[in-house]
Amino acid sequence: MAVAQLTDKTDEQKAITEMVRQFVDEQILPNAEHYDHEDEFPGPIVDQMKELGLFGVTIPEEYGGMGLDLTTYTMIVEELSRGWISISGVINTHFIGSYLLMKFGTDEQKERFLPRMATGELRAAFSLSEPELGSDVQAIKTSAKKLDDGNWEINGQKMWVTNGLMSGMVFVLVKTDPAADPPYKGMTCFITEKEPGVSENTGAHAGLTVPPKIKKMGYKGVESTELVYDGYRCPPENVLGGEEAGVGHGFVQMMDALEVGRVNVAARGVGIAQRALELALRYSQERKTFGKQIAQHQAIQFKLADMATQLDAARLLTLRAARLKDAGERSDLEAGMAKLFASETGRFCVEESFRIHGGYGYSKEYEIERLYRDAPLLLIGEGTSEIQRMVIGKKLLQRNKI
Ligand SMILES: Cc1cc2nc3c(=O)[nH]c(=O)nc-3n(C[C@H](O)[C@H](O)[C@H](O)COP(=O)(O)OP(=O)(O)OC[C@H]3O[C@@H](n4cnc5c(N)ncnc54)[C@H](O)[C@@H]3O)c2cc1C
Repeated sequence: MAVAQLTDKTDEQKAITEMVRQFVDEQILPNAEHYDHEDEFPGPIVDQMKELGLFGVTIPEEYGGMGLDLTTYTMIVEELSRGWISISGVINTHFIGSYLLMKFGTDEQKERFLPRMATGELRAAFSLSEPELGSDVQAIKTSAKKLDDGNWEINGQKMWVTNGLMSGMVFVLVKTDPAADPPYKGMTCFITEKEPGVSENTGAHAGLTVPPKIKKMGYKGVESTELVYDGYRCPPENVLGGEEAGVGHGFVQMMDALEVGRVNVAARGVGIAQRALELALRYSQERKTFGKQIAQHQAIQFKLADMATQLDAARLLTLRAARLKDAGERSDLEAGMAKLFASETGRFCVEESFRIHGGYGYSKEYEIERLYRDAPLLLIGEGTSEIQRMVIGKKLLQRNKI
């Protein structure tokens, strides 16, 4: 793929990314500091995102969405993350949930959930991790057993569920056959419905508790919670893809969704790196030492040069992975590379920008301080850098078998 093919935008992509950039400049950047410092859910910003249709970007038009592809979504996520990665976190799990429904859901499930998801009225979370595991997904302990009345009863504890409180549905991976060998063949994805914003669910959703949100270093505003399933009853029609196609296939479904999730995290790395570079370019031309702008010192110019070079490379890798996926080609290796490189680039650019800010970078008065606390998340979520290297290495060997 030529570079121009990777970076070119259609008229529609230009219009939508310009619209999102303006939204970020006017609504997110001026308000992020407040919500970050208070660790408060950015409700008014999320309401405006609903009005702009941002919860339905990839949902087909027949269900009320925009029906756009992963590439366009990636461009939007870069813009939102340039403003604040917590905002992209609000739609990230929703995007993965809608991908799971579009790809694996039954017609009835699509009709029941997608129209309300497209407007953002119903928001989705997705949950693999547990207190004792994150990388080793096959070690999941949360389990579901089929009851005589046809329902499934889910028991167990989930960890680090982004949008765990405010979402109305959670795509949750649980064990349905403890004897399955290998274990991944005994896992199923359930669509667990819940009351948004309620910690003790009752009535049809009884048995699902959301403990107080986890206190975090950064990535504030959007909540990450545990979820406790204790006798939660899930109807058979909420098995993703239906019981016949879905039971025992949850692991494969979730791993497929993680591939697009990784492209999405890569786009977040590009967005935060872009913002860090913008802040560094501005500050380095304002601050003077030894009688000149610090931007005139070669050591600072080299930092700017390295940041801009890595940023461009990260953007190209990210767009390549997205475009391959849209073209229906294999993109597992490319998605892993994009996620690895772009998240590391996010951290690198933020740290270099922080250094350029000198002591002021350590002050909460400066935006870079927030970025410095936000960027490390991208090294962890959707698979750590170590796990990406494992994925890349495995795929490389598969594609180059002698
Ligand atoms: C803010 C936040 C939001 C999150 N949101 C979600 C969410 O919405 N849904 C969800 O399901 N999860 C979510 N997570 C969980 C996240 O996906 C996990 O934290 C991540 O996958 C790592 O798992 P772990 O924390 O259990 O680390 P571990 O798996 O315990 O890993 C610890 C360390 O060991 C390394 N390691 C592990 N195995 C290997 C190996 N085989 N070889 C070499 N090194 C290895 C890891 O790279 C890491 O450095 C979130 C996490 C955070 C911090």
